[in-house]
Formats: sequence, structure tokens, C-alpha cells
Amino acid sequence: MPNKSTSSEIIMTVRETQAAEPQITQAPVRTIHKIVKYGDPVLEKPGATIKRFDAELEQLAEDMFATMYASQGVGLAAPQIGKSIRLTVVDVTTGKNPEAKIVMVNPEIIHAEGEVREEEGCLSIPGFRGYVVRPQFVTVRAQNAKGETFEIRGENLLARAFCHELDHLNGVLFLQHLSILKRDLIRRKIKKLRKQGEW
Ligand SMILES: [Zn+2]
Repeated sequence: MPNKSTSSEIIMTVRETQAAEPQITQAPVRTIHKIVKYGDPVLEKPGATIKRFDAELEQLAEDMFATMYASQGVGLAAPQIGKSIRLTVVDVTTGKNPEAKIVMVNPEIIHAEGEVREEEGCLSIPGFRGYVVRPQFVTVRAQNAKGETFEIRGENLLARAFCHELDHLNGVLFLQHLSILKRDLIRRKIKKLRKQGEW
């Protein structure tokens, strides 16, 4: 899920800037994955349950944070980088607060309440947004990258990010929560972009 201010133009600028700057930190080198776009079947199939908790999984989660920050997103699910597994990362501070990083493996919503209608977008559907009703409060039970079970409660944007990313793990995109009219409009525009080679 992208940050509210994100547009495709901003994404391009950030990527170009980062590519031009030399690495000055001593942090491990992270792999920035390519984010798959709407139309790729991996986005519309449920991810597999994760059973192996190892260093590889921890690294993948960190690479997903790096990939998400590079696109100014607040959430990213493994299917969005072409991996059909139940792993997602969320950080509604877009990297400003390391404490706010949340890794969720095999997550499920165990409680939801309230309703908020707010505009939403998706890193896999860049340039398009729509109003989606989500719960105001959501409690998720998940495992961390080490396999330890935890519960976390989110409100407003965080609750929205949880719902959006968990949807991804079930092969559901925010388009499916829009009116048929709005959804078809976006689909038609994407089809046109694809024909022009711009998608
Ligand atoms: Zn998304």
C-alpha cells in the first residue's frame, strides 16, 4: 500500500535519486525487488503458509522493507514481489521509526470493529486510487520471522494497511472492494496503458 502522497512521478524520482547516490551506510546490502503489477496472476492467487523460519526468511523480510521504502509504501506483501507465500511487512512511518516495522508471517485477523471510508492505493496498481471501507480497529495474530506468535492491534491507517496486506495474501486486491463501475474504469485504463507498453 503506498503512502497517501505517492504518485507514480514521485516513485520515479526517488528511484533515480537512490541509484545515483553512493552507499555510505554500513548496513547490509539489501535487494530491492521488482514490484509486480496488476495483471500478473501471482497477485490473484492465495499465498502458501510458511513453515520454515530461518535466516533466509528474515533476510527476505528486510529486503521487502527496503523495496517498500524505495517506493514510499507503507505495506508490502510477498506476492507483490512474485513470491506466493504468506509474508507481509508494514511500516506506516515509511521508515522514519525503526520501532514501527512490523513483519507478519501467516497472519490472520482475529478481531475487527468500526468502519472508515478512506482512499487507498496499491504499489502493484500505481497511479490509481479508490475509496474503500475498512474496519477502524483490527487485531491481527501472526508469527514473526522467527516463528514466534504475537498479536497486534491497529487503528485507522495501520488497521487499513493490515487489511490491505492480508488481502494480498489471499489473492485479493483493493479493486475488488470498489464499485463495479469504478473497478471497470480502472481496468480499462490499465488495459489501454498495457497496449501502449506503459504498464
Ligand atoms: Zn497492495
